[in-house]
Amino acid sequence: MFRTIFIKLSESKRLRRVAERSAMGRRVSGRFVAGMSVADALDATQRMNALGMSVSIDNLGENVTNVEEAKESAKLYHELIDEITDRKLNANVSLKLTHMGLDVDDALARQIASDVVAHAARVENFVRIDMEGSQYTQRTLDVVRDLHSRPGHAGRVGAVLQAYMHRSQSDAEALCAEKIRIRLCKGAYKEPAEIAFQDKADVDANFVKLAKILLKSGTYHGIATHDPKMIEATIAFARAENIPASAFEFQMLYGVRRDLQEQLVRDGWGMRVYIPFGTEWYPYLMRRLAERPANVLFIAKNMLRR
Ligand SMILES: Cc1cc2nc3c(=O)[nH]c(=O)nc-3n(C[C@H](O)[C@H](O)[C@H](O)COP(=O)(O)OP(=O)(O)OC[C@H]3O[C@@H](n4cnc5c(N)ncnc54)[C@H](O)[C@@H]3O)c2cc1C
Repeated sequence: MFRTIFIKLSESKRLRRVAERSAMGRRVSGRFVAGMSVADALDATQRMNALGMSVSIDNLGENVTNVEEAKESAKLYHELIDEITDRKLNANVSLKLTHMGLDVDDALARQIASDVVAHAARVENFVRIDMEGSQYTQRTLDVVRDLHSRPGHAGRVGAVLQAYMHRSQSDAEALCAEKIRIRLCKGAYKEPAEIAFQDKADVDANFVKLAKILLKSGTYHGIATHDPKMIEATIAFARAENIPASAFEFQMLYGVRRDLQEQLVRDGWGMRVYIPFGTEWYPYLMRRLAERPANVLFIAKNMLRR
């Protein structure tokens, strides 16, 4: 029930406007968001790199409503890619196609994303296209496939699959056949029973099944979860199949299970931290609260302590 409430809250435009403009809101978001500026994201990246972790930086934002906003979002990605290169950081970028204007103009979003991927390819970096709600699944995968097939882009752009979606196994098999890198996660949106598993046990079972397909595929994929059971199952499978730690990576969100992130690095596994930054943090934060309502208490306690 809490999950549904917070996901509904994440979609409220009015609350989003109020929260993102308030000083209190910015303080609350600080637990899961690295800051408001590119410089904040780069500082956080440097800190994670020093801990032996790689990073994917996300300029927060989604569902822009006009072309200018979409172009503005893309500008920050170009700046990020240049800064990552200049500072020799171990980081790539993650973006959402609705942030690049997918709701406004499909062709424009494709062009903007293509320019970002071309930039990343020139400096031998990588762009992850995040997965959003199911109304975007097919279009997002079509864009990733299209970009990946362009000259010089192979291996420079990757997709995300959500284990709660019934279709993800066939998507995983198709993407693996094309050697497209996948980030596997459970899925953060509210989807109907016709297309998505509703019970945690079913989502978890599908996650493990998909993780095994990815690990066996020979392409470098990301296993994105904070769930110790998913991590244990992935490690057990890698060990049983003699799949080395260098063949894949774990991924976690900034500020979530930092203890587990550090433990995995100590144990010799690859760990990439997803670092979100920017002023448009509200829907992202609400989805994190949906995953773990206890985070509300956690944030409240931290604020009282300051
Ligand atoms: C790197 C990364 C990228 C992602 N990209 C996408 C994407 O593109 N599209 C998408 O739909 N979703 C994305 N997600 C979110 C994902 O789909 C899940 O909603 C989220 O990761 C929670 O699922 P879980 O696997 O951690 O397991 P859950 O079953 O939700 O949780 C298992 C355990 O993990 C811990 N935990 C989980 N979440 C939190 C939290 N917020 N705070 C504290 N502890 C927590 C708790 O101990 C919990 O008991 C991404 C997640 C990660 C880690």
